[in-house]
Amino acid sequence: MAEIKVQNLVKTFGDFTAVDNVSLTIADQEFVVLLGPSGCGKTTLLRAIAGLGMPDSGVITIGGRDVTYLPPRERQISMVFQSYAIFPHMKVYDNIAFGLKMTGVDAKETDRRVREAAELLHIENLLDRFPNKMSGGQRQRVALARGIAMQAEVILMDEPLSNLDALLRLEMRAELKRLLSNIKATTIYVTHDQIEALSMGDRIAVMQSGVIQQCDVPTKVYDMPENFFVGSFIGNPPMNFFSSQIVKDNGSVAAQVGDFKFAPHPVMAKLLDKYEGDTMTMGIRAENMETLNQPADDALRVKVLVVEPLGAQNLLTIKIGDDTVKVSTHPDLAVRADDDVWLRFPSDKIRWIDRESQKVIYPS
Ligand code: ATP
Repeated sequence: MAEIKVQNLVKTFGDFTAVDNVSLTIADQEFVVLLGPSGCGKTTLLRAIAGLGMPDSGVITIGGRDVTYLPPRERQISMVFQSYAIFPHMKVYDNIAFGLKMTGVDAKETDRRVREAAELLHIENLLDRFPNKMSGGQRQRVALARGIAMQAEVILMDEPLSNLDALLRLEMRAELKRLLSNIKATTIYVTHDQIEALSMGDRIAVMQSGVIQQCDVPTKVYDMPENFFVGSFIGNPPMNFFSSQIVKDNGSVAAQVGDFKFAPHPVMAKLLDKYEGDTMTMGIRAENMETLNQPADDALRVKVLVVEPLGAQNLLTIKIGDDTVKVSTHPDLAVRADDDVWLRFPSDKIRWIDRESQKVIYPS
């Protein structure tokens, strides 16, 4: 059992707090992704778990054992970091085999694991080469192969696919996920790639300024963000946010955008009542708006500024008030820049932000 438990972890550099009282439990064999903007503390947190940077306070346990102040080699973990740290004077084969030999795995098993990992990462033809004659992407795959071949119960990875080209990355994503599940590893995976996080993680921990803002399954993080930051960070494009005014329309709560009024979901209407007269931020995803190319009473008229054909969808850029909004449409809907379109906002897809706390309001 290799459950990882981080409790109240703090890591400072001078008077800067890089990890701010983080608590996180990763279940045995779970795959958790740390996702967040550059500088939010992902690598610092991972390094503390790896034993590469001592925390100021807090406790880290792996499989119930307190490892907070143990050196990395006593933590029984495998690490794949962005800086590949592979040995330039050793052939690829020996680089991948290195850790296995050090831990006393016999030659036959070492050979089997080296070849399996090399095959997975499509570097079987490089086993006889020296890393200093290879590209960054190839070296990164050697580092990844070495980490995987260890088959440790805990694998910590920091942007392990960042130097691969888009196609290889797409392929590796799925294969790596399958392999980690086969070897039953507990994995923490740092990335700032949205798609990697959403497609690979059992759960995603979204970080900002050293704090975990939300840790949940990808569908929940995507569809039900905890707060404005998570919504505006997750997804490509991220959730749209724009202002609306909470008003009364024939005695019922309504939201008003420009001259257009619409009724919030009945469950939300009760919660929005107390915001009457306030301007509120509402959030909705690009694919959740319905776009019509003719007027409708229950739709907001907007002008299309840009149309980006993306193959499976077209992405429209529009403005609602001062806010730029992205709308996803079916490619069959004939729309060009400067056209008017009409948008419907399905009420169950709208997220409302409390201005003070910046949290999304959900019915309890
Ligand atoms: P990225 O995605 O860019 O790698 P990150 O989320 O992994 O970013 P960290 O590398 O953990 O971020 O850094 C968090 C913050 O701590 C940053 O502001 C960084 O400048 C600071 N930091 C990290 N290491 C040190 C250090 N050794 N000394 C001083 N400050 C540091």
